[in-house]
Amino acid sequence: MNKVVVVGSLHYDIVVESSHRPVKGETVLGKKWFAKFGGKGGNQAVGCAKADCDVFMVSCVGKDNFAPFLLEHLKQHQINTDFVQQTDKFGSGMSVAIMDSEGDYGAVVVSGANLAIESAVLEQDSLWQDTKMLILQNEVSDEINLNAAQQANQRHIPVCINAAPAKKLSPELIKLIDILIVNAVEAEAMCGIAVTDLTSALKAAQRLQQDFPQVVVTAGGDGVAFANQQEQGVMPAIKVKLISTLGAGDCFVGHLCASLINGETLKSAVGYANQKAAEHVSMLAR
Ligand code: ATP
Repeated sequence: MNKVVVVGSLHYDIVVESSHRPVKGETVLGKKWFAKFGGKGGNQAVGCAKADCDVFMVSCVGKDNFAPFLLEHLKQHQINTDFVQQTDKFGSGMSVAIMDSEGDYGAVVVSGANLAIESAVLEQDSLWQDTKMLILQNEVSDEINLNAAQQANQRHIPVCINAAPAKKLSPELIKLIDILIVNAVEAEAMCGIAVTDLTSALKAAQRLQQDFPQVVVTAGGDGVAFANQQEQGVMPAIKVKLISTLGAGDCFVGHLCASLINGETLKSAVGYANQKAAEHVSMLAR
């Protein structure tokens, strides 16, 4: 099996279903709520596991009631948790998302223990042995992301970053990245091109490709643009009945990386991830 290391966040997500998202000063009576496993790192690890990768998770949880739920969910997906640390200094990461009747949502995230991952965990050779790809996001400290990318780079392991949420990446980290995946908001933050459709998504991908060997810009229900030296293009989203976009990007990232590790071209990997993300948005992610 293809081994992937995901260094990233684990969150206990509380999702509130509501007619609409509250504006300043407004209290809305919600319809119902549920708790789910989340965190971009955790969700992408699950995406890779669903695409048949052997996934090793590096993260940190608190010593609280949320931690067993998070670890159990990873284990249910056969994800290795030997490198998930536990701290009593912070609570486990969590988020509250408010989902409106259209399935769109806004969220607040508290990183908590995710910011307490220690560099020493990344220095263990057994973590990297036989690893085919490292996947990062922007929900752990910059220091951990850089350290993980350096460890992977020394071992000639390709590094993918889903630069979400939007944040300026350091020049040292940029040099170590092989694949950049961003959504419309993150693409604009990184290159200044407003992504409003697939034409502008492709422009942003081409601009970002000046700094990263392979770039994918996801544009929600419009679809996705991609660029590397060999292939550049767009792919419209697959039409499905939308239930919720929650976690669509993470599902996309996990499946894209799994497909690239299998030796698929960027275009083919984007096609596979676009299909799986469309299936994801037509189901209620729990
Ligand atoms: P999120 O933060 O909601 O997890 P994101 O903002 O990172 O997602 P998006 O660009 O919204 O990512 O979506 C990622 C991919 O999911 C899209 O490129 C597309 O393949 C698929 N997708 C998203 N919305 C839809 C939709 N309405 N119909 C079909 N596919 C969709």
